[in-house]
Amino acid sequence: MLIGVLALQGDFEEHLNILRKIGVEIRDVRMPQDLDDLDGLIIPGGESTTIGKLADDFGLLEPLRRFGEAKPIWGTCAGAILLSKDVRRAQPLLELMDITVERNAFGRQVDSFEVDLKVPALERMDSSKQSFRAVFIRAPLIESLDGEDVEALSELEDGRIVAAQQGHFLATSFHPELTDDDRFHRYFIHMVDG
Ligand code: GLN
Repeated sequence: MLIGVLALQGDFEEHLNILRKIGVEIRDVRMPQDLDDLDGLIIPGGESTTIGKLADDFGLLEPLRRFGEAKPIWGTCAGAILLSKDVRRAQPLLELMDITVERNAFGRQVDSFEVDLKVPALERMDSSKQSFRAVFIRAPLIESLDGEDVEALSELEDGRIVAAQQGHFLATSFHPELTDDDRFHRYFIHMVDG
């Protein structure tokens, strides 16, 4: 199995490190031909406007859209923004996943925070009840699920959605690559395998 990580800007190294530890083959993706033969792709956190603009400059937007029509993509934080159909402002998006996202939803006062999330899909995978320690950094919220086949995977205590899946697309508001817990990465690998 060969998993790519979009490596234009942001914390792609952290994703590559976790994947390396899990033991799958990895490739950093910077050009359209880097998508060839990949089984799945991760779009990391960073700055979604910068990643989108660079993807546009490098002629990657259309190839990424075509890739997503056939293969699994997981977006973390800025990556989730790029995957979404709508962010209520003009910036390059892949528009692959039927979610509306609110950027910087936690405001400037709360730049970053950590919280223990309940993620039933991960609990099912490992048959454990262990919560997932999630790191939020100027994080977006998944404001709405805009299709019948879009499922919330995790919510904050007040019900706001921070992880969602639609078929072979996965979006998380937070950064599983910044913790030692590799369960989200393994969950994505199961999606790719599945
Ligand atoms: N605030 C960033 C954006 O809107 C996302 C932050 C992140 O990826 N940690 O693109």
